[in-house]
Amino acid sequence: MAVQDHDAYWHPGLETQSRADWRKLQLDLLKDHLRHAYEGSPYYRAAFDAQGVSLGDLRTLDDLRRFPFLDKATIRDRQVAVPPFGDLVAVPEREIVYISASSGSTGVPTASPFTAKDFEEWIDYEARQFWSSGLRPTDRYAHALNFSLFVGGPCVLGAQKLGALSIHAGTLPSERLLAVLNQFRATALWTTPSYAWHLGETAQREGIDPARDLAVRRLFVAGEPGGSIPETRERIEALWGAEVYDYYGLSDIFGSCAGMCVEKDGLHWAEDHILVEVLDPETLEPVAEGERGELVLTTLRKRARPIIRFRTGDIVSVTTEPCRCGRTSLRLKGVHGRLDDMLIVKGVNLFPGDVEAVVRQDPALTGEYRLVLDRVERLDRLTVEAEHTQGFNGDLEDLRGRLRRQLKAATGVGAEVALLAPGTLPRAVHKAKRIDDRRKHVWS
Ligand SMILES: [Zn+2]
Repeated sequence: MAVQDHDAYWHPGLETQSRADWRKLQLDLLKDHLRHAYEGSPYYRAAFDAQGVSLGDLRTLDDLRRFPFLDKATIRDRQVAVPPFGDLVAVPEREIVYISASSGSTGVPTASPFTAKDFEEWIDYEARQFWSSGLRPTDRYAHALNFSLFVGGPCVLGAQKLGALSIHAGTLPSERLLAVLNQFRATALWTTPSYAWHLGETAQREGIDPARDLAVRRLFVAGEPGGSIPETRERIEALWGAEVYDYYGLSDIFGSCAGMCVEKDGLHWAEDHILVEVLDPETLEPVAEGERGELVLTTLRKRARPIIRFRTGDIVSVTTEPCRCGRTSLRLKGVHGRLDDMLIVKGVNLFPGDVEAVVRQDPALTGEYRLVLDRVERLDRLTVEAEHTQGFNGDLEDLRGRLRRQLKAATGVGAEVALLAPGTLPRAVHKAKRIDDRRKHVWS
């Protein structure tokens, strides 16, 4: 029997069980969940029937592949067709106690409903994730995420549940947030990676050294790939003198679905709530473990609105290799980009995160960057804009050549490099916009 260290784990037995036990638990939960979806939701009943699959077809976890996919457009369309929450909902409305809403790029917000039990279970596993990242009852945790309808808002209750003092900061102006962190001596903070960087630089401009003058020693980040790109994470860690833990969430499912443990070697999935598939986006067949594919998620307990085989559009890789922390759950090794953000440059798939890893490892650069794409004589041209640091006194040509070689090695794409003075590129607040694709304007 595995040693159960109650100080290390929130639910020791569950978190350290064998892979075979995880699979058995998932199969039991999935059978029950598909039945609930079929019996409670007119949408799923029609979708399963149309596909010609029945509940009896699910004998192993692999059999889930017989069931139909779901995408964001369908969630939105069903909500418009059957207002206000759509017919994926599988419980009577009187059982729904909470909704979050997210506005996609097309504008119509989709609502994600929870029953009281869904909400309670969600907060408990947020507490489990925080615990795995080393948050403890002695911490003072500042939650600097949006509370307005945003599913990331209530995650603060997970920190509160584990006993940390929780500061519901929300999206305060940076100067105000810094004052709050300082006044209450917050030891932990959650924001996006871009904003953590921006906030740290804002502090420095005000004469505050975050590493020396503030008490923040743990930063939770989500919403962008940066927290899992080691070079980015290490620079934020150096700026703050803090550990950075990456979290992955999805508005249509939960605030955070996977989070980094103290080993910071991938993000542990809450596999008793979510079943993960990683599929080749073209063939929709599973990719080998460790390879990149589209993340497809299925909820296992969420009663209000089951989500079955949701194509997230995120390109990820995962592993079941044992983690040094002793947890046995599947780990997300990286979100390499959005299927929508995936650029095809000279026929090669390229994600902004691939470039970020190169730009942020060079101490001669500020770490800010932008990808500019255009066409010259009908051929793609990629220009990576980056800033040299204030104190840089080396040869700019050497730096440019070095960067060009590193980019080619990391991405397989030949790129032009434009070196700019520090502070030239627009500083991103929250979600960074790092691609300027002008190819559609020059294509004629
Ligand atoms: Zn771990």
